[in-house]
Amino acid sequence: MNKKRSKYSLGPVAGLVVLIVLFLLSSRINLSDGGAPEGINSVPLPDSSADQPLQVYFLDVGQGDSELIRIPGETGYFNMLLDTGEYEYADGLTEYLKGLGVERIDALVCSHPHTDHMGCMARIVQRFDIGAIYMPLLPEDRAPTTAAYEKLLDAALDKGLTINQLHEDAIIESPPGSQFQVMSPRMDADWDGANNYSAVIRLVYGESSFLFTGDAEEESEEIILEDGYMLSSDVLKCGHHGSSSSTSDEFLEAVDPLYAVISCETGNRYGHPHRETVEKLDREKIITYRTDKDGTILAESMGDRITFTTGLDSVQGRDG
Ligand SMILES: [Zn+2]
Repeated sequence: MNKKRSKYSLGPVAGLVVLIVLFLLSSRINLSDGGAPEGINSVPLPDSSADQPLQVYFLDVGQGDSELIRIPGETGYFNMLLDTGEYEYADGLTEYLKGLGVERIDALVCSHPHTDHMGCMARIVQRFDIGAIYMPLLPEDRAPTTAAYEKLLDAALDKGLTINQLHEDAIIESPPGSQFQVMSPRMDADWDGANNYSAVIRLVYGESSFLFTGDAEEESEEIILEDGYMLSSDVLKCGHHGSSSSTSDEFLEAVDPLYAVISCETGNRYGHPHRETVEKLDREKIITYRTDKDGTILAESMGDRITFTTGLDSVQGRDG
């Protein structure tokens, strides 16, 4: 009798416990569903790309940013130029790209419309065969009024190119074996300065990955984390030239890179990279390359391990 009674009396309690556990489990499942990283970690490489590496040049353009991404494809390299540096690098960059055999830029990307990133982009549009142009658009009252920006819009118009707006989940076409994921800015982004409108783009090639952040700062990093994108990448191009206003602890932890790259000029007036950022990367034992110390940096990947070459020629400025 006692046994029976206790069985009965335990029944509802056990049921309640099961219900609570189920509820907790389901809320945990919901939580982890909502926060599951959005993105992929690898893309199968086609056979045709087997003998050519992916090349990512972090071009030394002084105090500025410029990256040339060359993805091997069946008919040669797909070339993406992400930022160009200031106007004074127009001729130097043209020569540098031609020297590498680049005649066509399949994707010309402006991370955000500050001149240290797109000062000579109009010239590049005029001088190269361009596939498509991508750029985040700022609200009208915050759109830049610089000559460099106006000239870029004119140069695109003259060549009959429309500018594709970059925003989260925007599509950038790329060859088989590679994928770009644009995770910022949000369509409804509302920032004071242009930096946080920077396009943040992750490139996956085979099993290797790169994260390009333009000048995105902590506030923008926070939104990207909130949106749950997969950030884990082998190489992080540190935001805003290694400023302490970017590369927050949380963001760095999520990206968890093996390598970091900082693009800046020796003795620049902003003190980039900031000591806090350099110390943070050191502390996390992240191998760091800097264009001010290493010149142009080349990262190459056959789809898995990434190798670096430093000390390549810098892009010559007008007076250099
Ligand atoms: Zn910048």
